[in-house]
Amino acid sequence: DSFSVEPITVLTKLKHECATPLPLLQKVADAMCAQMRAGLAADGGPGLPMLPTYVHDLPTGNEKGLFYALDLGGTNFRVLRVQLGGKDERVIATEFEQVSIPQDLMFGTSNELFDFIALRLAKFAAKEDGRFHFWPGRKREIGFTFSFPVKQTSIDSGILIKWTKGFAVSGSTGKDVVACLNEAMERQGLDMRVSALVNDTVGTLAGAEYYDNDAMVAVILGTGTNACYVEQTSAIPKLQGHVSSSGEMIISTEWGAFSNGLPLTEFDREMDAASINPGEQIFEKTISGMYLGEIARRVLLKMAEVDGLFGNSATQNLSKPFILGTPDLCAMQQDNSSDLQAVGSLLYDKTGVESNLSTRKTVLEVCDTIVKRGGRLAGAGIVGILQKMEENSKNFISKKRVVVAIDGGLYANYPQYRTYLHDSVKELLGTEKSHKVVIEHTKDGSGIGAALLAASNSKYK
Ligand code: ADP
Repeated sequence: DSFSVEPITVLTKLKHECATPLPLLQKVADAMCAQMRAGLAADGGPGLPMLPTYVHDLPTGNEKGLFYALDLGGTNFRVLRVQLGGKDERVIATEFEQVSIPQDLMFGTSNELFDFIALRLAKFAAKEDGRFHFWPGRKREIGFTFSFPVKQTSIDSGILIKWTKGFAVSGSTGKDVVACLNEAMERQGLDMRVSALVNDTVGTLAGAEYYDNDAMVAVILGTGTNACYVEQTSAIPKLQGHVSSSGEMIISTEWGAFSNGLPLTEFDREMDAASINPGEQIFEKTISGMYLGEIARRVLLKMAEVDGLFGNSATQNLSKPFILGTPDLCAMQQDNSSDLQAVGSLLYDKTGVESNLSTRKTVLEVCDTIVKRGGRLAGAGIVGILQKMEENSKNFISKKRVVVAIDGGLYANYPQYRTYLHDSVKELLGTEKSHKVVIEHTKDGSGIGAALLAASNSKYK
């Protein structure tokens, strides 16, 4: 009968609050574009950081020789070497090593962290085989990918603004991270030189552009998130007369800091309040891999407490922050079995809660709600960047093919997230324009990209 009111369950409320209909996505894209413009006008204002990278030219393909790349930006740190053979031979050989960052180093001192990195780099450099040819009399040059907000004033130096993504290293904020690395390399007796400091979005863009000249935007969706794009120097008032022969500069938007008009819930607010950087990186906390699992966990805990979702199961494990990771949500969402056996086992193994089929379906709805919101908002962010590029050159999107290069463990491994992101971009752009926008997964392009930028900024050129 028309008078009975459905009780508003936690799930119904969640879905309502996380909804991302087209008008909301369009508002987010518009706000992203406006915040970018504000950030290009002046530092310290209301806009996004919009960090100048001092990268004016993307790789041409003529780069030759042996170059190194070192990548610090999340849970893993990577070292890589590449032998470049110019236009014809391109990438002749590459080799890389990945090392996970010990947890205590994420909370230690700057010297401890950089000494660890220099030590691993020294070990790696000591093992060059016959495929790699080094010019005698030169120092080995490194492209250093450092994916935290940095204030650069040249291509090979940059002051750390702050740590993000769960890092809280003491004694490096306000310092030149290239100097920190150089000093650590000296302490390790390692004679190498950083010739380009970039973040992973810039490395990814350089790597993508090496293979496809239409790459103009790069996005990272991993533990954290960021995006960069090619901007006209004339549209960067805060650079006040800085000249570049190409008339362009890559700008690192630092879009993780964006927060306008996002559909947020009590779970987001509580997670933010409990984080090491409350009030900051709100977009990152809504769309990136470090957080999606934790948001879902908070929802499930509330449903356990309020709706008795898991019956009499003890919830003390479910109360532990970050016990559910984004890869867990992903694994559950790939379960196509009729009884959702994999969902049940994962929930039990990770959190100790018992579940029946209907509980498991509810859990999947929670995962989907959080992941859908994240993917669709990421798509709106991308369209915001494309709108900004459209301002400089009208009909830019309809005229030219534009490649958006995306990398990161979240985008690479989570098919549902990827689909939601693509759908959102398509919905926002409309069919005609979206044909011109190619979203490409560039796998591990950032390492090669950083090495390429080390080559194009070599002091021996
Ligand atoms: P990082 O961003 O730490 O440098 P990655 O780009 O490899 O490194 O991203 C790792 C992140 O990607 C993890 O923290 C996790 O959030 C996410 N991720 C990794 N594997 C999966 C997966 N199978 N499903 C969903 N997300 C994943």
